[in-house]
Amino acid sequence: MRPSELQPLFASAQSLTGIGPRIALLLKKALVLPPGIVEARVLDVLWHLPTGVIDRRAEPHVADAVAGAIVTLKVRVLKHKAPPRGNAKAPYKVTVEDDTGRLDLVFFHAERKFIERQLPEGETRYVSGRVERYGDVLQMAHPDYIVAEDARSDLPLLEPVYPLTAGLSGKVLVKAARQALERIPPLPEWQRPDWLAERGWPTFSEAIQRLHSPTDASDVSAASKPWQRLAYDELLSGQLALGLVRRRVKAQRGRAVAGDGRIRAKILAALPFALTGSQQTALREIEADIAAPFRMLRLLQGDVGSGKTVVALMSMAIAVEAGAQACLMAPTEVLARQHLDTIQPLADAAGLTVAVLTGREKGRARRETLERLADGAIDIVIGTHALFQEDVTFRDLAFAVIDEQHRFGVHQRLALQAKGGDGGANVLVMTATPIPRTLLMTHYGDLDASRLTEKPAGRKPIVTRAVPLDAIERVIERIKVQLAEGAQVYWVCPLIESSEKSDLAAAEERHAHLVQHLGDCVGLLHGAMAADAKDETMAAFSANRLKVLVATTVIEVGVNVPNANIMVIEHAERFGLAQLHQLRGRVGRGARESFCLLLYKAPLGQIAEQRLDMMCATEDGFLIAEKDLELRGGGEVLGARQSGLPEFRVANVPGFETLLAVARDDAQLILDTDPQLESERGHALRTLLYLFEADEAARLFRAA
Ligand code: ADP
Ligand code: MG
Repeated sequence: MRPSELQPLFASAQSLTGIGPRIALLLKKALVLPPGIVEARVLDVLWHLPTGVIDRRAEPHVADAVAGAIVTLKVRVLKHKAPPRGNAKAPYKVTVEDDTGRLDLVFFHAERKFIERQLPEGETRYVSGRVERYGDVLQMAHPDYIVAEDARSDLPLLEPVYPLTAGLSGKVLVKAARQALERIPPLPEWQRPDWLAERGWPTFSEAIQRLHSPTDASDVSAASKPWQRLAYDELLSGQLALGLVRRRVKAQRGRAVAGDGRIRAKILAALPFALTGSQQTALREIEADIAAPFRMLRLLQGDVGSGKTVVALMSMAIAVEAGAQACLMAPTEVLARQHLDTIQPLADAAGLTVAVLTGREKGRARRETLERLADGAIDIVIGTHALFQEDVTFRDLAFAVIDEQHRFGVHQRLALQAKGGDGGANVLVMTATPIPRTLLMTHYGDLDASRLTEKPAGRKPIVTRAVPLDAIERVIERIKVQLAEGAQVYWVCPLIESSEKSDLAAAEERHAHLVQHLGDCVGLLHGAMAADAKDETMAAFSANRLKVLVATTVIEVGVNVPNANIMVIEHAERFGLAQLHQLRGRVGRGARESFCLLLYKAPLGQIAEQRLDMMCATEDGFLIAEKDLELRGGGEVLGARQSGLPEFRVANVPGFETLLAVARDDAQLILDTDPQLESERGHALRTLLYLFEADEAARLFRAA
């Protein structure tokens, strides 16, 4: 349970003055909320850090105010001047003065009552905003702040500037953050004093205070000491959470599963190819892992087409050799059946009994499968989430493969593993997302990972070129020549940035243009089409009746047309590296030489140029992912969202990798010396875990 002193931070943001249901909706838009949280809480307001400050500290006399500058002035209200009747466009003016000069406060579309209330004649007010010269009159249009003398402290001299959304004003956030700061309870220090001293970092409370209510403009920067301190807090909490969960998993005795190799030998003999070096390495790693007497949890990473399925099958065979069962879980029905098609002939050759279990299996067929799973007649079952259903029982499940493609949860999943019963399964998670090592470490700690880096033999490299859009007619001419030689082409249409045109309109236009040049062998595929029409178009392309397929943005995952050998990506500069890499992966699957043409609009920005250069230089998904991380910086990686990795609250900072490495060592040391977090620092660290909502991990040390 979360410590009660932290509760006020987890209350709804609506408990703050000035935040009602309407603003709460806007907060939900403007703030980054953790997965599963639907309403902003006080804590989320605190994590919403400013991106800069407005400096209102200049407090000149009116005569010394410099046009163009933001200033705070202490003035007497002299006179209200309403706009002349019948001239609604003229502004409402209020003349104010101090001993040195006069100034007009100017309001367009003014609400008169409001202004009269704010600026009663004869009273003294502080006003803050940008001064301007209008003719020979000094003026301030729509002051940002107007406060009475006794409310002077309401006027932030260094005003934090927050990321906003339409309808949400900075003032609301300033006010909310101030109240949120007051909710922070006294907290114990969880960082090592010597480390804090070395970095010159403030305490947690001071750090967050200085970001939301800065005393120096340089406080508000991701490189500042307060921000770095918070980033380190977040990284340490993450590393600690992972460490806790992983120790728990490893501590659970699993079974040592060892096979004699007889089934694997038969599978190998039935394969029409030899395993690549990295497939062999991955298999050796998996074999050693499941032979050890703790539960395996390993990630198998490899691009689409790198041959993960065979690795999965060979690993499952080990379990069967040991007299147990295995399962393979796919994210969709279609992918489950695709796996079955691949595996069935090999299983037949090796004498393995394979079954399928998805939502589609019902009634008697399903009951029979369940019985045969329970009595051990089935060696390997391939299915979807249906495998998780309660009435699915195994005689002896020793190995589970989860083919999760882009979506896998993080320490929730690890924690799930930790909860499993005795003798639970060894788990292999397969993913096509080439997650860079740094990110893997951030989000999974030292999770064991095997990588398939080689392409299966016989694949030819994909020749990739960046071509300016101006040369499109020449590209079309070259494609014409290629088509005559039997080529097939994907043509991916641009992501539309402006609202001038829809994606669909752009694709239709390109389609018409290509039909004109290449004839009616050009098909069109887009998201608004009915499912049958889509299937029909896809089938026609698959059967080589259509030679060119024009498609909006994303060609559906799982599309496999080995004869297609040319990928044209229009406005490639608008795509991220991960997306470009994925799209390119659709070609290069057959015997024909393959090409990827990245059509770009010149001139290229610096980052876009680096992206396209990278694409032309390599096909290695891991290198591309590392580059993506470098170009985007910190943890802001496109692949991250897709793969369900949680986003940082504050840790996207310069020097991220260094901090991460220290946090990792620190976490390891803590867990080595105080695995139950029982020391004084240990207790403080528990608070840290709850503060960053690593609750699953935090719960473990109690249960242990
Ligand atoms: P993915 O990693 O995307 O799941 P698959 O397992 O579907 O890839 O493999 C893609 C294709 O490559 C399949 O047709 C498979 O039979 C073939 N393949 C796998 N390993 C090899 C290999 N070592 N040599 C040649 N072809 C292979
Ligand atoms: Mg696959």
